[in-house]
Amino acid sequence: MAVVSETVRVAVVRQASGICEYCRYPEEFNSGRFAVDHIHPRVQGGTDDLNNLALSCRGCNERKQDATDAPDPATEKIVPLFHPRRNRWEEHFAWSNDFRLMIGLTPTGRATIARLQTNHSGVVRQREVLHQLGLHPTP
Ligand SMILES: [Zn+2]
Repeated sequence: MAVVSETVRVAVVRQASGICEYCRYPEEFNSGRFAVDHIHPRVQGGTDDLNNLALSCRGCNERKQDATDAPDPATEKIVPLFHPRRNRWEEHFAWSNDFRLMIGLTPTGRATIARLQTNHSGVVRQREVLHQLGLHPTP
């Protein structure tokens, strides 16, 4: 995880409406601050431009690392990961009927869910609790 200035971080949080742009978990219910993800990693020439930055929970950030693509589990083909600035979340993901699980609608959606493990048991239980409180999914 690369560090950006506080000014840039505030802009990233505002741009993301305070939710992880991959798994949609809200930062306000997290014990620590979310990371600022360089969608195209700095080590590969990615910049600090807002168009290359996304708010990311620690889990998604640690699992994404410097990846920009990953295998689609349905086909094993390498495909681009979800790009929060270029892609629309709703085109690549949906919630299961009980809102516990993210479902990949596209190769990119499936690859991103697998790489970032957005349906691991901890986050699924957090979604259950937030849903019971009327706080998940976020609009
Ligand atoms: Zn996340």
